[in-house]
Amino acid sequence: MGWKTLDDMDLNGKTVLIRVDINVPVEDGQVTDDTRIQRIVPTVHEVLDRGGKAVLMAHFGRPKGQVVPEMSLSQIVPAVEKCLARTVHFIDGEYGARLGELEMGSVALLENLRFNPGEEKNDEGFASRLASLGDLYVNDAFSAAHRAHASTEAIARLLPSCAGRLMQAELSALETALGTPKRPVVAVVGGAKVSTKLELLSNLVEKTDHLVIGGGMANTFLAAQGIDVGKSLAEHDMTDTASEIISKAKSVGCTIHLPSDVVVAREFKAGAANETVAADACPADAMILDAGPETVANLEGVFDTSETLIWNGPLGAFEIPPFDAATNAAAAKAAELTKAGKLISVAGGGDTVAALNVSGAAEAFTYISTAGGAFLEWMEGKTLPGVAALEG
Ligand code: ADP
Ligand code: MG
Repeated sequence: MGWKTLDDMDLNGKTVLIRVDINVPVEDGQVTDDTRIQRIVPTVHEVLDRGGKAVLMAHFGRPKGQVVPEMSLSQIVPAVEKCLARTVHFIDGEYGARLGELEMGSVALLENLRFNPGEEKNDEGFASRLASLGDLYVNDAFSAAHRAHASTEAIARLLPSCAGRLMQAELSALETALGTPKRPVVAVVGGAKVSTKLELLSNLVEKTDHLVIGGGMANTFLAAQGIDVGKSLAEHDMTDTASEIISKAKSVGCTIHLPSDVVVAREFKAGAANETVAADACPADAMILDAGPETVANLEGVFDTSETLIWNGPLGAFEIPPFDAATNAAAAKAAELTKAGKLISVAGGGDTVAALNVSGAAEAFTYISTAGGAFLEWMEGKTLPGVAALEG
């Protein structure tokens, strides 16, 4: 790993620019979930404890380079103050002068960076303006690292730079799961569509020993084998691609696991009447909404013999019970093995994290990535510009 951490930096008396992700949900001016803010606390406190001044830089929403008052970060200040247990000085417009007045040990938050068109353009000029405000740059926003923006990429080339504690934890967890994992490695990929996860599937086939395919995308793989999936969600124009993934897996020695039994229903709604049938026996007027118990038992067996698990995508339509059963059972098994010290388990993806939280299994996982797009791109084997810039 070619990037520095806070351990490598002298923070005493330094103004430290910290890129954070505090793009939290807000309703009626209230932050409804402050998880993202809580996660930046260790880095900010460490900068303060070691004698520095913390200047937080972040985006909020998609103002597209214009000042949109409803997307001002000022509304997040109370929530940041609460999580940090510190006063936060909000700095709007011309940042320089006001920042200079703040003593070491203070925390400042700059206005939404995306109010400036230079941010998303990775503009050198805007990056230099930001860089001129501080002595050091710390990137603690892994979830924004897949975008080359002025505050994630260009700035890192202008100041001494390092990863913050959250970025460090995320990169280390991903490295453990996919970079240099303990084998055998099992990947579970579910969710709605093959088309959104093609690159993910091809990369995982190369790097894992077992690939469990579930959710709507498994229907496309079943269809590729000539199986009639009735009214199931399936991408019939992707069946050739699915077949290619299966043959690639064969040639590199990755075992693909498709559902052997499925839960079908005639309506897409909670509590819909349902039955379990063999994977090749979906009635013409029904749709597959979950994996069946035999499939789950097979998957549990694979988990039992694996050292590392990577998971993205629910195994069924988990939002509408009882079609959350396979996802919950797999999550419980992964949690149990992790607690027993027999499995390293890493999961990510918006719906996946929601499903694991609801199932109650999330806490037992080795690492849950909340990074969304950046997590997926990392899993796809892509270089993230925000991480690469720290290595440069
Ligand atoms: P993530 O956000 O974790 O990357 P996705 O967005 O790819 O996951 O997939 C989640 C969605 O897939 C959920 O809305 C879920 O209802 C849907 N899904 C899973 N299995 C099925 C299925 N068999 N039929 C229809 N939708 C499904
Ligand atoms: Mg999703």
